[in-house]
Amino acid sequence: MAKRVTQIAGSVDVAFFFLFHALGSPILAWVNIASVAIYVAAYYALKRRRNQLASGLIWAEVVLHSALGTLLIGWDSGFHYYLLMFIPAICLSTPIRWVFPCLLGLLAYYIGLDAMMRVMDPIEPIHDLALYIVHVFNLTVVFAMFSYLSLFYVNVVVSAQRKLRLMATTDPLTRLLNRRQMKFMLELEIERFRRSEHPVGLLLLDVDHFKQINDSHGHETGDKVLETLASLLRDHLRAQDLVARWGGEEFLIAMPNSDSEATTQAAERIRKAVAGFDWRQLTGEQTAVTVSIGATQLTAEDEISRLISRADKALYQCKHQGRNQVAMH
Ligand code: GH3
Ligand code: MG
Ligand code: MG
Repeated sequence: MAKRVTQIAGSVDVAFFFLFHALGSPILAWVNIASVAIYVAAYYALKRRRNQLASGLIWAEVVLHSALGTLLIGWDSGFHYYLLMFIPAICLSTPIRWVFPCLLGLLAYYIGLDAMMRVMDPIEPIHDLALYIVHVFNLTVVFAMFSYLSLFYVNVVVSAQRKLRLMATTDPLTRLLNRRQMKFMLELEIERFRRSEHPVGLLLLDVDHFKQINDSHGHETGDKVLETLASLLRDHLRAQDLVARWGGEEFLIAMPNSDSEATTQAAERIRKAVAGFDWRQLTGEQTAVTVSIGATQLTAEDEISRLISRADKALYQCKHQGRNQVAMH
């Protein structure tokens, strides 16, 4: 972003060089060459990550350039508009306790320049039409810079919000819903169920002997198994189903519009898909990864805890009876 600013500002100054030559103000034309040199220096400073030096150069350039332009051809040149760009720059990049003094300093500088031009004549005045052209040019550039900056920051804020929402609602490893978000969605599902009574199926899935997988292949492979499992789940469920990482190697799935038959069928489909998957590509040898799935249906009297404890009992039964199976409670 900052590098882009130095490039744009440098290009504007090159345009200015020709403009001022044409308008008969050679001093200002050469001031622009000095400005281009400063922006080139700022650009290379940024490239070498010397950000403070770069921002110092840019600040100095704008302060001096706006003052020189104003002193040489007058207040109506509109060079002072560039000083307004410091308002967002100060607010965004200055430590909070310095913001107010810096803004006050800027205001004092701005008023001082205005007051001075009321008592003195421009040093190198240009004719009225030329002055008007410079004014419109400066106004347009500042207008464009403010618009660009505003859109840039809206973009930054929106994408940061999106990232934060994703971080708050999903699990980073599997990208499935996290426990907190799943609880929230389940509450909504229970409310909807109480209004419409459409059947809702729930599956609690736990990887069998996952500790052994970790122990024999390492934690990283264990993580990969969890990631692959998550994508297998997504592949074998409908878009409307809620899939969450409920705990370490436990997953919770809520299936709206699933009666007990559809719920059991979905659970079997998942169990078979996991058991039939070629896990060799992850573990390097024939390792059986299987899951046990406790299934249940939402009832009118259920709260989240009751619902899950029923699925948990079903899951316990699977584990007890030898794993790699589905039980419905
Ligand atoms: P069971 O069949 O009875 O479920 O046996 P198990 O070994 O799967 O169950 P146990 O609860 O004893 O072990 C679960 C293991 O899951 C222990 C823990 O180290 C591992 N685990 C939990 N979260 C993660 C994770 O994010 N990544 C990896 N690699 N392992 C995890
Ligand atoms: Mg477990
Ligand atoms: Mg387990």
